Amino acid sequence: MKFEVTILGSSSATPIFNRNPTSQVLNINERLYLIDCGEGTQQQMLRFDIKASRIDHIFISHLHGDHYLGLVGLLSSMHLNGRKKPLKLVCPVQLKEIIDLQLKYSDTELQFPVEYIFTNAQQSEVVINNNDVVVETIPLDHRIACTGFLFKEKKRLRKLIKEKIEKLDISVAYYSVLKKGGDYTDEKGTVYKNESLTIDSAEPKSYAYCSDTMYNESYFAQIANTTLLYHEATFLNDMLDRAVITHHTTALQAGEIALKTNAKKLLIGHFSARYKTLNELLDEAKINFPSTELAIEGKTFFIE
Ligand SMILES: [Zn+2]
Ligand SMILES: [Zn+2]
Repeated sequence: MKFEVTILGSSSATPIFNRNPTSQVLNINERLYLIDCGEGTQQQMLRFDIKASRIDHIFISHLHGDHYLGLVGLLSSMHLNGRKKPLKLVCPVQLKEIIDLQLKYSDTELQFPVEYIFTNAQQSEVVINNNDVVVETIPLDHRIACTGFLFKEKKRLRKLIKEKIEKLDISVAYYSVLKKGGDYTDEKGTVYKNESLTIDSAEPKSYAYCSDTMYNESYFAQIANTTLLYHEATFLNDMLDRAVITHHTTALQAGEIALKTNAKKLLIGHFSARYKTLNELLDEAKINFPSTELAIEGKTFFIE
């Protein structure tokens, strides 16, 4: 099953040095999930060939402009391009009021239904649960209400060992039982253990999206053992005071968080406009967690 994330924007606060405000798109089993939608997201989607018509879920972490100012534009384009199918929008409750106001004064009635799922920054909740994935909110510690999102792949069914199934001439009617772990008994009463007929599917993978937040151990347990942890790393650690005041994280801390939560890999982003180049941020995160990469726009990271 495909499980990968493409970075559309990695800048904090303002667009600068060819970097755009935050946005990412997850591809889970060929369904697209957009996470945050800063200004410029539509242009980035065109640039990296991400089709808006394939997005059925949008997640907005919080209401700082660098995370949602591209959203009304995107909804507007979906409307103009004739979208009819529903869109699920997971976001803070106030976003509905903002969107409704903009649509009201442009006398626009969207031609597709928007199903709102409001986040609660005080406690984690499951916001999406479908055949492929469960998505939980991650309450973060930011200046305003903010939640990250934890995407947990569902465990797949067991795989049939084709040669054995054919050899025993097991009827198709039994396949679903076997895939769920049941044993097989033939007409003579001989029992075949499930493990001899099937193999286990791969362990489910997970992706944690943590932006924006200051270092706070309150969410560490929830993001323990993620396959890929995206964590904001707005500043270098010599700006720690500023990070605390603005409720952001330093690259050194992001590496420490990945280490303490036993992430398999770390991806850092949400870079301050003060950094023209990003190598120092990467090097600093690697002090604590060598398996770190920069969230470079246009790059796709496999969650494996
Ligand atoms: Zn931000
Ligand atoms: Zn913010």
